[in-house]
Amino acid sequence: MSEHATELLPWMEADYRRLLGLAANGKLAHAYLFGGQEGLGKLALARHFAHYLLCTEKQAGQPCGHCRECQLLAAGTHPDMKLIQPEDSNEIKIDQIRETIEFINKTSQRGGYKIVLVRPAEAMNISSANALLKVLEEPSSNTLLILVSHQPALLMATIRSRCHGMGFNRPAPAVVIPWLEAKNIRASASELLRMANNVPLRALELADEDAVHDRTVLHGVLEKLVRKEIGIAEAAAACESYDLEDNIEAMMLCTSDILAHNQTLSGDSASPLHDHDLAALAANFQSAARLIKLHDFYRQLIKARRTVKSKSNPNGLLILESLFYSWSRTVN
Ligand SMILES: [Zn+2]
Repeated sequence: MSEHATELLPWMEADYRRLLGLAANGKLAHAYLFGGQEGLGKLALARHFAHYLLCTEKQAGQPCGHCRECQLLAAGTHPDMKLIQPEDSNEIKIDQIRETIEFINKTSQRGGYKIVLVRPAEAMNISSANALLKVLEEPSSNTLLILVSHQPALLMATIRSRCHGMGFNRPAPAVVIPWLEAKNIRASASELLRMANNVPLRALELADEDAVHDRTVLHGVLEKLVRKEIGIAEAAAACESYDLEDNIEAMMLCTSDILAHNQTLSGDSASPLHDHDLAALAANFQSAARLIKLHDFYRQLIKARRTVKSKSNPNGLLILESLFYSWSRTVN
């Protein structure tokens, strides 16, 4: 999917319908604040709704995807749609808001709505926020502003009070899992979602990172450790260049895959390995004693991940070495 394409995320369906209802009744506010933690798909909802509003051949409450407006949107070149986000720093700068004000003051080029998405709104510095406040105080017709914020509490109260607030929470896993599974991921969708604390887009990111992170390297290292073909230091050095959290999460996926598979081996509902490349490795963990050690190793991975998340500068090499040491002990 291209960067400008939209997808109506299944857990956003009800909020989307609510917005459609408001638009149909002419009750759309001029500014919305979509608040909720990062990774829920707030921007995707804002985008999809924007596409709907601008599309000239809407069908069954959806943008058609092929009219001229939809084509321009898909190419990211629709003149009446603007996405404001930090460019070369972490901040949304005053110049970007000035451009936005100019954009809002001009008449629509394609004759429909003018839409501005600001993401994340808390990235506006004080002067940007104050400039945007003026726009919010004097709304112009046929203009829709959607501020997307991961931390709405950080916004100026005056900005919050001039937007119609919509809050978003983590969706039920039952809605997210089929969506994740349809993304053609290699790992288990429920496992990814669990690791992502039920934040759907984070789970998808983990799946991507997992694919990008050359798992064959990590799996190769884990196999060699089991066969005692390399030492701990050598193993850590081979994986050190990857992001530490990625390494840990990849080990979590691999370990949980093996655990789930081997624990059901004798049962009649054997759980297949999500990653078939792990078959050789999994064969090492068929005894109950080794499975118990593997469980302990998984717990250690959880702790290590917590350490990595909570420390600003963890000693990555040390953590990797300690994990690889424990891993090598699981088969002793
Ligand atoms: Zn269209």
